[in-house]
Amino acid sequence: MSDAKSDPRDLYQQVILEHNKKPRNFGTLQPCSHHAHGLNPLCGDDIEVTLNLEDGRVADIKFQGSGCAISQASSSLMTVNVKGKTVEEAEAMASQFRQMIRGELEPSADPNILGKLSLFQGVKDLPSRVKCAVLPWATLQSAFKGEDVTSTE
Ligand code: ZN
Repeated sequence: MSDAKSDPRDLYQQVILEHNKKPRNFGTLQPCSHHAHGLNPLCGDDIEVTLNLEDGRVADIKFQGSGCAISQASSSLMTVNVKGKTVEEAEAMASQFRQMIRGELEPSADPNILGKLSLFQGVKDLPSRVKCAVLPWATLQSAFKGEDVTSTE
């Protein structure tokens, strides 16, 4: 991440494109303990998150759906980052991700927590894409709360 030779924006593009092309944890968990449907009508992003909580941890998680490259890549990275985490850790990550996207948190302040997710910090300069990037996290939080549907509107 501190490689001076690589432009962070190039890395951002690469990661987004790569996760969009080959999303991780794509599909549906059957059965699942928690699920939620996330909609971003502004962009047309539509995802479903299914997960299994065991002893307060995200034992497994999958997403499926359709949408723009940012929403798909953000969903893919969300699943990778919360798998194996406790609900509290995942909630903390979700709120830090939101703060970063709103420009209220400098990712370098705590790179251990956000890790690769900090690549999305560039989205704060693209207001129309903020909801795309946040959608999977909002959907995850709805799933934890037992809400079926979340909409960014
Ligand atoms: Zn979108």
